[in-house]
Amino acid sequence: MSSIRFEQNLSLKEKPDASKLEFGRTFTDHMFLLDYTEGQGWHDPRIVPYGPFTLDPAAMVFHYGQAIFEGLKAFRTKEGKVMLFRPNKNAQRLNVSNERLSIPALDEDAFVEYVKALVEVEQDWVPSTEGTSLYIRPYIFATEPCLGVRASKQYLFAIILSPVGAYYKEGIHPVKINVESEYVRAVRGGTGFAKTAGNYASSIKAQEEAKEGGYAQVLWLDGKEHKYIEEVGSMNMFFKIGGEVVTPELNGSILAGITRDSVLHLLKTWGVPVSERKISIEEIYTASLEGKLEEAFGTGTAAVISPVGQLHWNEHTMVINDGKIGELAQKIYDTITGIQNGTVPDTFGWNV
Ligand code: PMP
Repeated sequence: MSSIRFEQNLSLKEKPDASKLEFGRTFTDHMFLLDYTEGQGWHDPRIVPYGPFTLDPAAMVFHYGQAIFEGLKAFRTKEGKVMLFRPNKNAQRLNVSNERLSIPALDEDAFVEYVKALVEVEQDWVPSTEGTSLYIRPYIFATEPCLGVRASKQYLFAIILSPVGAYYKEGIHPVKINVESEYVRAVRGGTGFAKTAGNYASSIKAQEEAKEGGYAQVLWLDGKEHKYIEEVGSMNMFFKIGGEVVTPELNGSILAGITRDSVLHLLKTWGVPVSERKISIEEIYTASLEGKLEEAFGTGTAAVISPVGQLHWNEHTMVINDGKIGELAQKIYDTITGIQNGTVPDTFGWNV
């Protein structure tokens, strides 16, 4: 940590009221930066006052989109300690994304050290009311000024922090989801498994149309046959059908969610039958008609669990568990948030 240069921000902002925080709107006083230059590798780690970047208009990210990011959270436990949830998994996934986008790898221990160092400097920004956290956004983008499609020879790695309020202020309400039958998010061989900006850029149009139709999110089907379930918005998808929990297998076109992995660990520990496999939308529809579709929920860092109350697929509407949160989704939510705020024993050693 001694190698990280520190430049103190001399005009600190006022800390916001935790009950009024909107996701991703407020940023802390400092940010972490690290440069990459060909020949020199990653160099000059520093924590500096939060502020705008100066970039060459020809910076390659603006033209060819070599950009990847991560998302994780720091929590304040009941004893007042600040904890990160499985940051090593984000370090691994960052490098999976880097590899796919031809961005040079970052040392995974160094990644965790940089996150810790910035959160330590900004620890007073970690809110303490129930359900709140400090969202951590590490990202890398191509900065070399050059027009020409190839890998950039210069990059910037940055980490910014944003205090976030409770996701469920008025209790957990299951959402209405539209199964997207026209647009696709990713295909095998593409970049679906990487957390790269382009995946999100191309998802916005379907998301906007779903919102107009009164749906909270889009459920993506596979890009080839438009038949198999991929993921929902920025979450992985789980279904409970006739007592068994199923989730789409990691097939190259979906993101390997860290919450997904945590849920799989919990279910296996609890002895709940669970499988990772291909799931067609027809299978879900048939299960729904037969009264076997017991629960459906998305998993992700932002909400932990987002239960689905209604699935709309072409002319069909499936109502799940009478539009209420299922018992299993509630138990998973309580356990993961409990581990994060220190009220449930961290038997897996997930908190750092
Ligand atoms: N899928 C996509 C496309 C996402 O952006 C996210 C959020 N990172 C997830 C799934 C869930 O991943 P995680 O549980 O690591 O937040």
